[in-house]
Amino acid sequence: MERMKKNQTLVLINPWIYDFAAYDLWSKPLGLLSLAGYLRECGFDITLIDCLDIHYPGLGNNRNLKSPVRRRFGTGKFFREKMRTPPQLQNVDRPYSRYGIPIPLFRESLTNMPPPACFLVTSLMTYWYPGVFEVIRILQEIHPQVPILLGGIYARLCTQHAEAHSGATTVISETNPTAIIRFLENQGLHAPRELTGLPYPAFDLYNNIDSICLMTSSGCPYRCRYCASHFLSPHVTRRDPHEVFEEVVYWHKRFETRDFAFYDDALLVSAKTHIRIILEKILKNNLPVRFHTPNALHVREITRDMARLLKRSGFRTIRLGYETSDPDLHQRLDNKVSPGDFERAVTNLRNAGFSRQEIGAYILAGLPGQTVESVAETVELVARTGATPYLAEYSPIPHSDLWEDAVKASDYDLEAEPLYHNNTLLPCWTPEQRNAFHDLKKRVIEIRRTHANH
Ligand code: SF4
Repeated sequence: MERMKKNQTLVLINPWIYDFAAYDLWSKPLGLLSLAGYLRECGFDITLIDCLDIHYPGLGNNRNLKSPVRRRFGTGKFFREKMRTPPQLQNVDRPYSRYGIPIPLFRESLTNMPPPACFLVTSLMTYWYPGVFEVIRILQEIHPQVPILLGGIYARLCTQHAEAHSGATTVISETNPTAIIRFLENQGLHAPRELTGLPYPAFDLYNNIDSICLMTSSGCPYRCRYCASHFLSPHVTRRDPHEVFEEVVYWHKRFETRDFAFYDDALLVSAKTHIRIILEKILKNNLPVRFHTPNALHVREITRDMARLLKRSGFRTIRLGYETSDPDLHQRLDNKVSPGDFERAVTNLRNAGFSRQEIGAYILAGLPGQTVESVAETVELVARTGATPYLAEYSPIPHSDLWEDAVKASDYDLEAEPLYHNNTLLPCWTPEQRNAFHDLKKRVIEIRRTHANH
């Protein structure tokens, strides 16, 4: 008699975003895709459901669905559906939406599949947990007998909240894939084969690969008080630069991918032994690729030579982590920019041939103790220097060094309710500051228009 094949199917899910705004800036669940590659190499059968995938199978069949506007280099809008704003966020005067594929399509994918051995759900921003919970609720309804493992950033930063409210069978607060293998073994699932090498993230599970996200290193040597990088990736590790180059070649040759976004926290640090080697190989091999840095580069590292190398090797989107022009604030919060560093970096980039539009500077707004005037001055300085300002509203992050100050400064109960971490709420500012922020946003839009007309 033929033995029944053991169920080794794992379904990996990237949930919807629930928020006031979301934009696809090369947004891919890189951690989940790396795990998919790893588990596939261990012999499991892998299915991916990315609720944010704008090319999700079956989307085209729905004539009532308005296609999202897509822009250059694999960026653009997501599908979106307006939702009821949660009561905690009622005083934000903007529509609240679910971003991603329609719920019926998600349900259809699940009902069309036999029950897998396990669901693995990831999570990102702490205040996006409603999307995660919705996914888990539907999984439990359609496949009630299948265990659900919840991991990702929300699960790590708000483990107790996730354990108490998500409904997942287990919440994983570690990043190491061996923790996942352990969980699977506890469920009676053993990896069919030994892992031999570390595979690439499983981007090939997508129907359409617009762009690839690359991670050449993890961790960051800086310790900015508003950031939880030291908690999420305590050690700085770098991949072999030659191996990173091989990965770029692989995606470019196999899928003709041209756009690559770096997800590193500190891409340019220790450049001589790392990114320089990668980029010089790209240049030498004449690869027609474009690079983007949505995660921001360190201003101090943009020397004249580095700016030229970035230009020549195909960087098209430069984002700088400037945060503020206030030197006291830098000293108190991050120590990563000294007076003159930003101006020097922008001059080097402009001289290397980057346009104002290609050079964006992130400016933090809404930090505890920060004034609206300080943000306004930073916006003007960025514009004068020849870069484009991008406001980044501060979201308080559990386990960051600034967390306690944020909890004290906020009128909201940040510790009890992750929805209050939502950056649109500007939870550490007063109502007057929030009102004044509207004018700042208008001013930034005006500057961007001027730059576009240049
Ligand atoms: S904000 Fe950027 S530079 Fe600062 S610690 Fe986080 S990743 Fe590093």
